[in-house]
Amino acid sequence: PTLPDMDADLVDCRRCPRLVEWRERVAHEKRAAFRDQTYWGRPVPGFGPADAALLIVGLAPAAHGGNRTGRMFTGDRSGDILFAALHAVGLANQPTAVSVDDGLTLRGTRITAPVHCAPPDNKPTPTERDTCRRWLDEELRLLTPTVRAVVVLGGFGWRALLPVLGDAGWSVPKPRPAFGHGAHVELAGTRPLHLFGCYHVSQQNTFTGRLTPAMLETVLADAGRAAGL
Ligand code: SF4
Repeated sequence: PTLPDMDADLVDCRRCPRLVEWRERVAHEKRAAFRDQTYWGRPVPGFGPADAALLIVGLAPAAHGGNRTGRMFTGDRSGDILFAALHAVGLANQPTAVSVDDGLTLRGTRITAPVHCAPPDNKPTPTERDTCRRWLDEELRLLTPTVRAVVVLGGFGWRALLPVLGDAGWSVPKPRPAFGHGAHVELAGTRPLHLFGCYHVSQQNTFTGRLTPAMLETVLADAGRAAGL
């Protein structure tokens, strides 16, 4: 199967009962500002080319963002920050993301998450993370020929991804490297992989100044260079 085949299967996934119930309830009840829109209300697939050299790994779709629009980080404040930074460093053709047909394209970059359905309070359970891992395993396997660098947004994604990278054939040091903003680890493999840590683009981090646009752009630019973009 190809990455588009995988994405087509993913959007029908119903393996996590709590998340299926939540994503559909949010899609039905909606937020007042979006009451005229039809919410996606399903698993949100990764976004970006199937031969990406740079992979960005978040946490899970936002209830009224990706779960509404059907595209990662599209239509929420976290995405506003992320896509503005991707555009600033030349990895996105435009600084904004509002809907699946807004014309946004990424250069050599794909965005995904270890959990593909919006969770209550943005907090998936360990069981949900482990259940969704099948998709991340498959995505990494399909991207292995081209991926050269990964930016992980936040500790949840970091901890979810390291075992996946190990199983996909890269050597993950023991003890496993700790997450931190600015962390940079080179993993040996058939082809080496540069792993970068970055604080998550959540409002909790961006409103408080814990993560500034400049900090995010620095990590993305470094990772883009490491990926040969
Ligand atoms: Fe399926 Fe992942 Fe959604 Fe669970 S979180 S229902 S495994 S797509």
